[in-house]
Amino acid sequence: LEPVYQFMVRLRIPGGLLTKQQWWGIDALSRRYAERGIRVTTRQTVQLHGVRKPHLRGLMQGLRKIGLDTIAACGDDSRGVVCGANPFLSRAHRRVAELARTTSDRLIPKTNAYPEIWYQESPGGESNEEPVYGELYLPRKFKVGYAIPPVNDIDVYGQDLGLIAVVDNGRLLGFNVCVGGGMGQLDSREDSYPRLAEEIGFIEADEAPAFSETVMSIQRDFGDRRDRHRARFKYTLDRLGMDWFLKELTSRRGRPLEPARSQRFEHNGDRLGWQRGDDGLWHATLYIESGRVDDALRAQISGLLEQYGGQLRLTTNQNLQLTHLEEHEIQTVHYRLEDLGLAWRLTPDTQAAHTLSCVALPTCGLAMAEAERYTPRLLDLFQRLKGQYGLADLPISLRLTGCPNGCARPYLGEVALTGRAPGLYNLYLGGSFQGGRLARLYAGNVDEARFLELLAPLLESFARDRNDGEHFGDFLIRWRLLDDQPATPTP
Ligand code: SF4
Repeated sequence: LEPVYQFMVRLRIPGGLLTKQQWWGIDALSRRYAERGIRVTTRQTVQLHGVRKPHLRGLMQGLRKIGLDTIAACGDDSRGVVCGANPFLSRAHRRVAELARTTSDRLIPKTNAYPEIWYQESPGGESNEEPVYGELYLPRKFKVGYAIPPVNDIDVYGQDLGLIAVVDNGRLLGFNVCVGGGMGQLDSREDSYPRLAEEIGFIEADEAPAFSETVMSIQRDFGDRRDRHRARFKYTLDRLGMDWFLKELTSRRGRPLEPARSQRFEHNGDRLGWQRGDDGLWHATLYIESGRVDDALRAQISGLLEQYGGQLRLTTNQNLQLTHLEEHEIQTVHYRLEDLGLAWRLTPDTQAAHTLSCVALPTCGLAMAEAERYTPRLLDLFQRLKGQYGLADLPISLRLTGCPNGCARPYLGEVALTGRAPGLYNLYLGGSFQGGRLARLYAGNVDEARFLELLAPLLESFARDRNDGEHFGDFLIRWRLLDDQPATPTP
């Protein structure tokens, strides 16, 4: 007898865009094949957990029927290209989303093995060559993401390659590019660390897909293939140096980069609730706790879609957007959201809306501690503590993961816990609210009581001495409260 293997199946959904028929299809397939429902991930896609091995092929063929697949959602290749901000808000947003889609199409593997294995199609006489990946693919995964300031919802500085839209008077001029971001680390290796992507210059908009391929091909050719833990692009850059990389990039591209243009991010979460695009259509973002779509929520969303004419979009903060609503439809949709008990998701508790957690136990084999299942309790305790200092309404970006791997981008949070053992976490503090600074390790192996004990005096100081509009992470840095020798604030 074969062991009863079960799998997590992650879909490829470039830009997170779905029709309502595709959502219904995913819903039906998850009921039939997945034992643990639907989860919206931090890379703007969907994971189905608990799929038994004999059901894999049926699931893949079912996905194909609704125009979806899992190509490059995992593996040593370009992971699904993410695209921040609602693409329907303006012409520039739409153009960025198109470029993200083109980039995804360009970077995904072209192998015939996928249809041969999952759809049982004959390979035929066509070439099975990978034009970009060759025989060896990449040393590790490679993440590309597009962000549109002022919203850094994708955490662009956590991407291997980030493209930051530069928009002037509603016109997309091009992208500032940043390279070498990555969250994953191993607590057991000192040469393993999270890294912030560095902005290196500016490119014209139309060049973005080809530029992405050029950067990825440099990593393909120079990434470390002997030590898997040092194989990510961030380590290639640190090993060979940024000067080397820029020289190599210039040589492959045929010209140097232009200097980066001015741009500014304001925050790294989603804008929840209603927003109107420049074409007059409305879009609503609904909060989903940890991206978990359980049986009850699954039924509510499917019920909502029965009387809904728009489309859907998943966000990199694990939320769900309803898009393309006419003005006259808003009231009806709002009533329907209220009837189904979903309306509160338009305006959830502000701290909850700035909290991310990974799936962790019991689903992820790498998890050493709880994350998603512990989030409601942690949020409650954190909010009570903030409330003691009059900070309950002030959002602080909070990230929780079950291991140091970083799937919920913990090192970009103002406060983050990464799992070490059941009930024990490493505590990181001092990331920025805009996602542009790494948090630092503040204390190791912290349990719940110690977490609250450590945070209390910091929040008390923050409440007393913060400047107008100052965020918690910035305050900790300004007052040097994360240094060994706390001193006076820097100007
Ligand atoms: Fe699993 Fe670790 Fe990723 Fe959480 S951060 S999903 S525990 S690998």
